[in-house]
Amino acid sequence: MKKIVLILLTFTFLSACKDATPSNGKLNIVTTTTMITDLVNQIGGDKINVEGLMGSGVDPHLYKASEGDVTKLAKANLIFYGGLHLEGKLVDVFEKMERQNIKTIAVSDALDKKTLISSALFASNYDPHIWFDVRNWERITTFVVQKLSEASPENAAFFEENGKKYLEKLKALDAEIRTIISKLPEEKRILVTAHDAFNYFGKAYGFEVVGLQGLSTATEAGVQDVQNLANFIIDKKVKAIFVESSVPRRTIEALQAAVNSKQHQVEIGGTLYSDALGNAGTVEGTYIGMFKYNVNTIVNALK
Ligand code: ZN
Repeated sequence: MKKIVLILLTFTFLSACKDATPSNGKLNIVTTTTMITDLVNQIGGDKINVEGLMGSGVDPHLYKASEGDVTKLAKANLIFYGGLHLEGKLVDVFEKMERQNIKTIAVSDALDKKTLISSALFASNYDPHIWFDVRNWERITTFVVQKLSEASPENAAFFEENGKKYLEKLKALDAEIRTIISKLPEEKRILVTAHDAFNYFGKAYGFEVVGLQGLSTATEAGVQDVQNLANFIIDKKVKAIFVESSVPRRTIEALQAAVNSKQHQVEIGGTLYSDALGNAGTVEGTYIGMFKYNVNTIVNALK
């Protein structure tokens, strides 16, 4: 018994040390999706080390942790992830990290459950694609500032300042999105994509949104789904449908073929960034750049 207590005490002591004194004086932070990686970098700047597990074009619904990922996670002072079962195959890994006293933070905890869109397709019962309403991202920005400041109080003023500047940029982005969309006649605001990533976007910016696959890319669209959606496109005279960067192109091509086989035409309006940003170092590799690119692509193809 004494031995167990001693081991427990040693463990607690070691993990307390790890929290208090990160290896090179900076917090080691591990993030999941590129959207979260970008946000944490915007706020943390050079005061933190950020390691994003998922790169551009990676689908978070299907992502499994590699051995290397588990090593990175085990060394982290903080882990930021989406939550609401966005990273459906990482839930066990996060629970394991919690048991090792590593703080894991779901950014979706920043949002009031009442503002979330319900979905029976996810174990969380909510649609996890929360980043497609800029106002959600504003709340999450404030939340990340708070969490980083708690973990590294000596840098709190720095995080606060970066958060303030970033919030201003997000407000400007929201206004710009609304201006671009206002040029598209209301009856043309129908967004057909490969999977249901854009429900928050639709709700926030006035689009009817239809995804070919269910909310998660883990569920394949059936033949009947394709036919029903093809009829919808013809009926509503939808000009263009969209591929997503993190979902195979063939699902949308099958839909286009179904419309064409009914003697109608629908274009592929471009590739949207849904569950991952563009390549790091490009404009679309940031949340703000990605959002503007998506909205311009949608409006140009549908007008
Ligand atoms: Zn998704």
